[in-house]
Amino acid sequence: MPAASRPAKKTARPSSRELVFGDLWEFDPAPETADPKLKTKCDLFIHGQFVKPSAGKYFDSINPATETKLADIALATNTDVDLAYRSARKAYDSVWGRMPGAERGKYLFRIARLLQDHAREFAIAETLDGGKPIKESRDFDVPMAAAHFFYHAGWADKLEYVSPGRSVKPLGVVGQVIPWNFPLLMLAWKLAPALAMGNTVVIKPAETTSITALKFGEILQEAELPPGVVNIVSGAGETGAAVMGHPAAAKIAFTGSTEVGKIIMRSVAGTDKKVTMELGGKAANIVFDDAPLDQAVEGIVNGIFFNQGHVCCAGSRLLVQESITDAVLTKLKRRIEVLRVGDPMDKNTDLGAINSKEQLNKITELVESGVREGAELYQSPCRLPSKGFFFKPSVFSNVSMSHRVAREEIFGPVLSVLTFRTVDEAIEKANNTAYGLSAGVWTDKGSRILKMSTELKAGVVWANTYNKFDPTSPFGGYKESGFGREGGRQGLIDYCREE
Ligand code: NAP
Ligand code: MG
Repeated sequence: MPAASRPAKKTARPSSRELVFGDLWEFDPAPETADPKLKTKCDLFIHGQFVKPSAGKYFDSINPATETKLADIALATNTDVDLAYRSARKAYDSVWGRMPGAERGKYLFRIARLLQDHAREFAIAETLDGGKPIKESRDFDVPMAAAHFFYHAGWADKLEYVSPGRSVKPLGVVGQVIPWNFPLLMLAWKLAPALAMGNTVVIKPAETTSITALKFGEILQEAELPPGVVNIVSGAGETGAAVMGHPAAAKIAFTGSTEVGKIIMRSVAGTDKKVTMELGGKAANIVFDDAPLDQAVEGIVNGIFFNQGHVCCAGSRLLVQESITDAVLTKLKRRIEVLRVGDPMDKNTDLGAINSKEQLNKITELVESGVREGAELYQSPCRLPSKGFFFKPSVFSNVSMSHRVAREEIFGPVLSVLTFRTVDEAIEKANNTAYGLSAGVWTDKGSRILKMSTELKAGVVWANTYNKFDPTSPFGGYKESGFGREGGRQGLIDYCREE
């Protein structure tokens, strides 16, 4: 495993006599070493059992930080997806759909607790398979996944309050497809509300990050969830298309790119399937001249470098009020210099590996286009490990709205900085995008926050903070960022029929 790289200018830790104030010290390596108990061969999870794929095909899942193989992952064909749907239908008709909500809630509480019991294993597996820093999988992904099950467990016996004055009924079998940026957490966002409402599920994880989803099957077995309530089918895009297009799906829920979302929408047009889409984003993080700058810089850094920028709601466009642009850029560069990029298993690492070679190529291509189109690129002076897929934290200044880096989702640790003079110009620029998932506002004035949050066309607007999540809070987009909500009461409505 390559050691976490450090900015070249950092010095070795001096003895106390040599201490020079202002120097940055090297950290000793702090690798996470616990055993994640990974299987080397991961089979499909259908009808409560791990089963071999019908065509006998497997594909590799690699560790993007080392490029070494972690496991063989089963490739589900249409036959396997069909088997999964039949199992889900049977479980819906015979057990889950007719079980009282309070009883379903007990299973969800059990799943949440078991996830907590196995939290360390899941965090390590997530980091090895996906490349994100261990401190994020340990402190964010896994606890949030458990929190979603706890929250929805609490709803299961209170469903009469989901849609006051109307009664709610489950839909039946739900097909779900999720991306690679928060593999376990996206699985929890999808499964918990569907199950609480009484639906059964067929879910497909992303090709590069199937390990924690399939490992989750072990939690379901330990929780003694009735067979068929959740079926997990790993595979490639064709498997996803089979899950989304299956005639037995009463509802489909997709999280991923806008491009694939549109393909799916076309394929289900004319059917009576209920659909929700959680797609891409190009959020504006807007900093006014009265904002607390040090806090704002922390928020900007968290907004775009968290999880290597593999975040749909990443604050990938920074809009700064013109008078403070230089001050913000100076502070930002200073902060970026001390970000630790490298071994995701090191507990001090801030930015881990890019999820795949393909994604690294996409980021590189977009950054090259930014340079070609005339934006000014600043990159952290850190050294990157020689193996694995890594990208330096990068900031583009002198960006104009026509540049690709200002318009396209990069999904990497790359920030594009634009400027504005007035509130109206900030709103106009922030909304001038095909997306509308999230935004951030940094200002001292409450009234300005209220105005901005009303006028910004974004599903979530954070004020004086960024990237904060809670299961009680609905999340979802406007425009090409999709439709439907996940989390909160609104998220449950998307998994029921109201009568
Ligand atoms: P993606 O390429 O669209 O893939 C998402 C999922 O769809 C994967 O499981 C993928 O399988 C599958 N898939 C591919 N082609 C398919 C098809 N024709 N039919 C059905 N499924 C298909 O997206 P990604 O690169 O994994 O994820 C990044 C994107 O997700 C970004 O755009 C990001 O903004 C978005 N995202 C949105 C949210 C949100 O809440 N709005 C949250 C997280 C991520 P394979 O992996 O096998 O290709
Ligand atoms: Mg992997």
